[in-house]
Amino acid sequence: MTTNAAWTERYTGVLMNTFGSPKTVLVRGQGAHVWDADGREYVDLLGGIAVNALGHGHPRLVAAVTEQLETLGHISNFFASGPQIRLAERLVGLLGTEARVFFTNSGAEANEAAFKLTRRTGRTKIVATEGSFHGRTMGALALTSKLAYREPFEPLPGDVVFVPYGDVAALEAAVDRDTAAVLVEPIQGEAGVIVPPRDYLPSAQRIAHENGALLWLDEIQTGVGRTGTWFAHQNPALVDAPVVPDIVTLAKGLAGGIPIGACLATHGAGKLFDPGNHGTTFGGNPVAAAAALAVLDVIAEEDLLAHASAQGAKLRAAAGADARVVETRGAGLLVGLTLAEPRAAEVVTAAQDAGFLLNAATAERVRMAPPLNLTDADVEAFAAAWPAILDHAFDPAGVAP
Ligand SMILES: *Cc1c(COP(=O)(O)O)cnc(C)c1O
Repeated sequence: MTTNAAWTERYTGVLMNTFGSPKTVLVRGQGAHVWDADGREYVDLLGGIAVNALGHGHPRLVAAVTEQLETLGHISNFFASGPQIRLAERLVGLLGTEARVFFTNSGAEANEAAFKLTRRTGRTKIVATEGSFHGRTMGALALTSKLAYREPFEPLPGDVVFVPYGDVAALEAAVDRDTAAVLVEPIQGEAGVIVPPRDYLPSAQRIAHENGALLWLDEIQTGVGRTGTWFAHQNPALVDAPVVPDIVTLAKGLAGGIPIGACLATHGAGKLFDPGNHGTTFGGNPVAAAAALAVLDVIAEEDLLAHASAQGAKLRAAAGADARVVETRGAGLLVGLTLAEPRAAEVVTAAQDAGFLLNAATAERVRMAPPLNLTDADVEAFAAAWPAILDHAFDPAGVAP
């Protein structure tokens, strides 16, 4: 058997050093559980960063992908396929507004498509938010505020203005008649699960539309049931009035782990591209589309929207019961925990030692984004282990390993 250590050494010799050296090499997954190369089992509370909506190895997802691959795997966009058309229809139905869809292979690509779409308004200015994350390609990076990500790659596509997140007055001041689109995440995921005031998205819509600009919501992390509704902008816990975005971008959980992204644009915005304006070889691939249809079916049939809300509330209550967690945030199964001290990295390490995979979004914020079908047993196991995880993280020297 090849061990973690042996794999890690080989990784370091052959993979580009973009992610640092891996600590753990995973070999197998089942439900919300994964196993590493040394045979250790973990409860996966990160879900491939909000991707494994149905957990690992879900039989419906395996069957859908297998059947589609046996039937028709790839065709290019010179041709169309039933799964692609059915998936577009399903997504438009869930959005509840007339819309057109462009499929991609990732979140960054969905945002690239949307960015290009906004240029077709004849305006170029984008108003985005501080703390935003929209991906790593040049266009998506131009929309991402974090200096450490941007600076090594400048010059980036221009005319992007950043305003403080959750601040309606800042939007009022920045959005004008030159603005093509206002771009916001309904919850900032990478920034550490930051939830804006409930009037923020409705106000962003009003301000955008008063100026003839588009409202573009990046729901790549928050969409597809993650917060307990199909789209986060439909969640009454997150908005105090209905929101109808002009553009919505999706990816992560959409196909439960098979690469896919989507750019949805409503009404006029959905007709801004002319033939030849954009393209993709893989986007809308029948296998990815069939996987996404299976994910949407299982979420609906097993009532995973309500389940995500319930399990998220339990996780927040369990984690927040300890005084070393000063704030619990998020909605549904996008969970953010603010620690009393900047020990998120230590918490992640201690959690992994205890058999739980978490993520340090920032120095003091821990993020969880587990499968939407997370079981009670897994929530209870986490609740039982959590105080000792914090003991190790807050006082690593004082506790026996
Ligand atoms: C993950 C993420 C992206 C980028 O998606 P990739 O598939 O990694 O390119 C963009 N926006 C948000 C909000 C994300 O969470």
